[in-house]
Amino acid sequence: MRDRKRGTVRDLRRDNRAAVLWSLYLGQPRSRQDLSMATGLSAASVTNVIRELLDEGIVVEIGLADSDGGRPRAMLGMNPRYGYVIGVDIGETRTRVELFDLTMSERAKAEFPLDPYKHDVNVVVAQILSGLDAVIADSGVDQAFVIGVGIGVPGVIEQGPDALVHCQTYGWDAVPLGRMLRAGTTLPLHFDNGAKTMGQAEMWFGGGRGARNAVVVLIGSGVGASLIFDGTNYRGATSSAAELGHIIVVVGGRKCRCGSTGCLEAYAGAEAILERYGRPMAADDQEAALGELLDAAGTSALAAAILDETAQFLGAGIASLINLLNPERVILGGWAGLQLGGRLLPQIRESARQHSLRHPFAATTIELGQLGPGAVALGAATLPMESFLNGSRTRAAGPAA
Ligand SMILES: [Zn+2]
Repeated sequence: MRDRKRGTVRDLRRDNRAAVLWSLYLGQPRSRQDLSMATGLSAASVTNVIRELLDEGIVVEIGLADSDGGRPRAMLGMNPRYGYVIGVDIGETRTRVELFDLTMSERAKAEFPLDPYKHDVNVVVAQILSGLDAVIADSGVDQAFVIGVGIGVPGVIEQGPDALVHCQTYGWDAVPLGRMLRAGTTLPLHFDNGAKTMGQAEMWFGGGRGARNAVVVLIGSGVGASLIFDGTNYRGATSSAAELGHIIVVVGGRKCRCGSTGCLEAYAGAEAILERYGRPMAADDQEAALGELLDAAGTSALAAAILDETAQFLGAGIASLINLLNPERVILGGWAGLQLGGRLLPQIRESARQHSLRHPFAATTIELGQLGPGAVALGAATLPMESFLNGSRTRAAGPAA
């Protein structure tokens, strides 16, 4: 009994600590009073937790704020120098590796181009390992201070010691990415699907803040998504949920990279858009080619027609999400999603309106992501942050502040 009671007290302390850390991480700077209001913990509990976090150097005082008539209140924030997290985005056209401090400010980044028609896993692994070395060297951070590395992968990730990746469109069938990377680094590794890491970044820091039910759509060469139901990422039975790119928009339509026909990705992914424009040869630089297509819309009837059609298909795909899921917000991101949305958002909204039921459409907004094309890497870096905030102390000892 006594052990159980001690355990309960310890659990409570850990829960309080996690609640305060999460609140500060997602909304800094905050005063002790703000934290008490945000977490529902008593002023005394917050004061205790904050004392502990200040002693450990995880939290720092970052100035004073006036309070109405009373004494100025100390404002608190995460100590940027306590530790660092690294986010990796295995994209279709490039591998990005970025190092962030605890306030999620970027300290260093490395990028490597990828051939979108050939995703050799050995090349990707070598790029990630050189990227890790590069960002640690460029930022001047001691590797012992790196809390962990999050990796946003294409396709479905089967969690486990090997971290198996299944990505039909890349020809990756149970690729043991975790095992391959661990052969080259001792840093703690965390994996999730790239669309889901982007969704998490937009929900925590960008266009999704404050929403409980949202869909974050990732459009690059292909199309993916992250579904947030009541504040939680919906994953499905085997973590494969939200493969928005492969919902069927035309029965018997264009052939898709997945082997099926008529998928949304076969119309609204950048690769498919460029193919319809007759520019598949531009695949080695799809980002520039899509920009040229958007620029040509004013003078080329073909370019304008393809973009109109793309907005129609994207709107129809979003309408299916609205009818099926009743989200408060639909957020368009990914490098192609941001380029397309920047020009076509009114047409995409109009197509979504035409194809969805009035009532759920009226409850939804369709917006652009706020974090830019780097949101996948930023979101990947939140994976090690999650376990850190929940109480796992993976970082090696180091000086405070
Ligand atoms: Zn498909």
